[in-house]
Amino acid sequence: MSHCVFCKIVKGELPSIKVHEDDKVVAFMDIYPLRRGHVLVIPKIHQQQLHDLPAEYREHLVNTASRIAKALYASPLKPAAVHYMVNDGPAAQQTVPHVHMHVLPRYSDDSLGFVARLLRKPFDLALGPQKPAELEALAADIRRQLA
Ligand code: AMP
Ligand code: ZN
Repeated sequence: MSHCVFCKIVKGELPSIKVHEDDKVVAFMDIYPLRRGHVLVIPKIHQQQLHDLPAEYREHLVNTASRIAKALYASPLKPAAVHYMVNDGPAAQQTVPHVHMHVLPRYSDDSLGFVARLLRKPFDLALGPQKPAELEALAADIRRQLA
């Protein structure tokens, strides 16, 4: 049994609200979202950092993240931009040691709110994850656009 949270999600040992899955990657809703529609894309193999991945996994990870972004743009969330983010090591605030790319909807003039959410994250972790039903509704919007 794996000790890595994201490997557990890949193996189905932990639940997740997926928006996409294929032979190389899984994309699912972040349960402590910094923004509504916060998606994580992970490779199905365990590596800690982006440069450790075989090239075909890295390429597919980025391609999938950009597909998710396109789906977010077309969804009712209608972001003005998206933030792709990889915290690539503990000193860069990587808390789960399995490569993951964050895809976050961004809006004009939301910088203050975004930073506030980042600072609030430790409290969010203490308060518990977002309700599955709320995440599922957002995931359904994203899945519809991916189809
Ligand atoms: P990072 O700080 O870049 O390592 O981001 C890890 C992300 O994984 C954070 O945004 C967490 O909210 C998220 N996360 C942790 N555990 C889970 C989980 N079981 N399901 C979904 N997202 C998770
Ligand atoms: Zn892992």
